Amino acid sequence: MKLLEYEAKEIFAKYGIPVPQSGGVITDVQQLPEALKKAGSGPWVLKAQVLAGGRGKAGGVKIAKTEAEAQTIAQAMVGMKMVTHQTHGKALVVREVLVNKCSDIKREIYISVAMDRKGERPIIIASAEGGVAIEELAKDKPSAILKVPIDPVRGIEPFQARNLAFKLGIPAKEVGSFGRFVTALAKVFLELDASLVEVNPLIITPEEKLIALDGKIVTDDNALFRQKALAERPDHESTDLELEAKKVGINYIGLDGDIGCMVNGAGLAMATMDTVALAGGMPANFLDVGGGATADQVTAAFKIILTDPKVKAVLINIFGGIMKCDVIAEGVLTAVQKVKLKVPLIVRLEGTNVERGRELLKKSGLKLTAADSLWDAAQKAVKAAKEAK
Ligand code: ADP
Ligand code: MG
Repeated sequence: MKLLEYEAKEIFAKYGIPVPQSGGVITDVQQLPEALKKAGSGPWVLKAQVLAGGRGKAGGVKIAKTEAEAQTIAQAMVGMKMVTHQTHGKALVVREVLVNKCSDIKREIYISVAMDRKGERPIIIASAEGGVAIEELAKDKPSAILKVPIDPVRGIEPFQARNLAFKLGIPAKEVGSFGRFVTALAKVFLELDASLVEVNPLIITPEEKLIALDGKIVTDDNALFRQKALAERPDHESTDLELEAKKVGINYIGLDGDIGCMVNGAGLAMATMDTVALAGGMPANFLDVGGGATADQVTAAFKIILTDPKVKAVLINIFGGIMKCDVIAEGVLTAVQKVKLKVPLIVRLEGTNVERGRELLKKSGLKLTAADSLWDAAQKAVKAAKEAK
């Protein structure tokens, strides 16, 4: 899960990490006056809450000196579409804007905790040259990046924190508070089962105070079963279709192509996507109904595929093991009755109860193309999608 800046900062505050005074997030300009009041005296900073860095350069971080100025900025920012160097050319809609008190900045530092796969432990990555894109710094000036491995059980050791403070040029009287800062950051990482906890920038104010001005937390989905509070948070990253699929217990990820795929088993789903690509097509999704899907889940899966307007053909590739071919066939028939099928349907069934499954589909009078192998099915789907254009 990826958390938005304000969510990360709320967690930081709970762990005693200093963050700017906040007026909270607004979703409507009418909420602005109250948010400004809560954030204290101006100037304020208004920040677009989207899951991408580089907002500053893309007009998503704006300073307002007066309430009138804040009003104008908020008006433009709520609902605006934002493209940053991290959004891969896609525009993200700004639904929430964070209102923070503006801080005076003397220095900007980069600090994060990430997973070092090779070292098999978390690692602190830091640089005295903060504020900028760390990826570029890593490329242009790798020597400016400091790395400190963390013991996954003991957390960061005091001597490691002091050493890092020294290398980052933290003012002598703030070495203690910096130590508490990194210790808490590592604790957030470990306790939330995170894969990344990033503060860019961590600032030093003219009064030599440390403040986390920006925050990013990415957590490991595989640990959500023991992260109840996280699991209850809204998932900002998923599309409506992906959320719908999650509700009914189907693994679905939307993709850019035009062939909707319904498959059982993640491995078979990947093989199907590869085969479609090999046949010259592009899958519209990754969809795994799982090993023990019910007819209801198959119906839901089929509906989800057909809701995607990009889909020009549907390819069903089922290997009936635990999942029986007749259950799949029933699900498809129910779904087709509920959702009007306007695109060609290519079906390849194999395995348990395959005869019954094929029989059911045949008897239904449903217009579909049967395929006898995955390669045959992929080629037929690609051809059908091309002809539909
Ligand atoms: P992003 O990383 O998406 O560009 P940041 O939150 O890092 O967004 O903000 C970009 C820059 O805006 C920061 O490096 C800082 O210079 C300035 N900024 C952000 N928040 C504040 C604040 N509360 N007070 C003053 N300046 C800020
Ligand atoms: Mg930043």
